[in-house]
Amino acid sequence: MALMTGAQYIESLRKLNTKVYMFGEKIDNWVDHPIIRPSINCVAMTYDLAQDPNYQNLMVTKSNLTGKDVNRFGHIHQSTEDLKNKVKMQRLLGQKTGSCFQRCVGMDSLNAVYSTTFEIDEKYGTDYHERFKKFLLFVQEEDLIVDGAMTDPKGDRSKAPHEQADPDMYVRVKERRPDGIIVRGAKAHQTGSINSHWHLVMPTQTMKQEDKDYSVCFACPSDAEGLYMIYGRQSCDTRKLKDGADIDLGNKEFGGQETLVVFDDVFIPNEYVFMDGEYDFSGMLVERFAGYHRQSYGGCKVGVGDVLIGAAALAAEYNGVEKATHIKEKLIEMTHLNETLYSCGIACSSEGCKTKCGSYMIDLLLANVCKQNITRFPYEIARLAEDIAGGLMVTMPSEADFKSDLKVGKNGETIGEICDKYFKTNDSCSTEERARVLRLVENICLGSSAVGYKTESMHGAGSPQAQRIMIQRQGKIGDKKEFAKIIAGIKK
Ligand code: SF4
Ligand code: FE
Repeated sequence: MALMTGAQYIESLRKLNTKVYMFGEKIDNWVDHPIIRPSINCVAMTYDLAQDPNYQNLMVTKSNLTGKDVNRFGHIHQSTEDLKNKVKMQRLLGQKTGSCFQRCVGMDSLNAVYSTTFEIDEKYGTDYHERFKKFLLFVQEEDLIVDGAMTDPKGDRSKAPHEQADPDMYVRVKERRPDGIIVRGAKAHQTGSINSHWHLVMPTQTMKQEDKDYSVCFACPSDAEGLYMIYGRQSCDTRKLKDGADIDLGNKEFGGQETLVVFDDVFIPNEYVFMDGEYDFSGMLVERFAGYHRQSYGGCKVGVGDVLIGAAALAAEYNGVEKATHIKEKLIEMTHLNETLYSCGIACSSEGCKTKCGSYMIDLLLANVCKQNITRFPYEIARLAEDIAGGLMVTMPSEADFKSDLKVGKNGETIGEICDKYFKTNDSCSTEERARVLRLVENICLGSSAVGYKTESMHGAGSPQAQRIMIQRQGKIGDKKEFAKIIAGIKK
């Protein structure tokens, strides 16, 4: 099958019987739900750009399995060039959506499982890699969205999976049958899970022998029997339910999506099981997925940062302060921080290396440094954007006020006319344009896109401490001590 268009992708979602709950109710037509649809539009953009000749060099590449064209989101990286193009593609998508476009978790999980299954088979003589290649071929040929599902709810963090009071706190194999396994548990904070055709489930951390049943990796369709999802609400989400409030949304078209995905005794046929009990490979799988996803943030958050910097610059222009030295300084600082993040994304890609099966991995130390910076710089970029935007981004009347015909002034002025009068600045913009750009800053810094730009920068692909542990492990302090000893003339 040829690569899908965005419209075909949206139609493909309608054919699924995905079970979605939100605000305590089952949502049957979730594809057209005003809270969910912006997140679907984001994913659709990953299809539409692949159809656009201007972007095909980044979006489309050749499959290592078939030699045919595939969307890069379904591709296994074959070189450091591929790794760099991935980051460039993600920056592009961030610029086009101003949001989390969700498809990267699938790409990162496909790559992590591809190389890890090869190494499991090498040690244990299993056939996980061949099984996985079949699944990958299907994903590439059908141009599907896969939710890479790693994060378990984890319950009491002081206890291992098997020690939890409730054994479902980590996804586990509940029963083994000749033809497959029954899995139980849940995955939390699942980016784009409702918008995915399939889920690729991985263990959430390094497991020990006692946690063998939790060392499981498998794929299953979104509408599998026993699988359902509960929508995570986001800041200002109910603004999307109101008619005639497009300006208030800041980003009407696009948004992110996170859910709790529940596996309520789901049967997984053997052909979709890619790890079952090989606990000694759980750490490798986690490290590789997290590494790829930490690289990803050096692209996607930079693209959203580009939108935010542009919005701040426009807000300054609309206020008539674009020539002020401190404004120029702040925009320079925002750009410097954003490009530093991009440099990290490109650096960990350029320094990537070949895995045993021939695919390419990022440099783990640099990817973790990349993500550690991501836990900080977007907050500073957002702080500067809010500084430049001014308080009006959170005190401004609604679109309904700006459009109101209700007469309130002594001379018969309407609410809309009064708003227009007092929020007018100069001829560089209309009051509506000023409102639009301030709402966009609000959306990225405090509204629903803040989930993707700020909090996800902090916690997505692992919270800051997870990267610090990896930086400690990869930092080669011993080598550095030796350098110091030699320079200092210390002989022992
Ligand atoms: Fe992709 Fe970034 Fe969203 Fe992760 S946070 S899915 S890398 S856009
Ligand atoms: Fe994420």
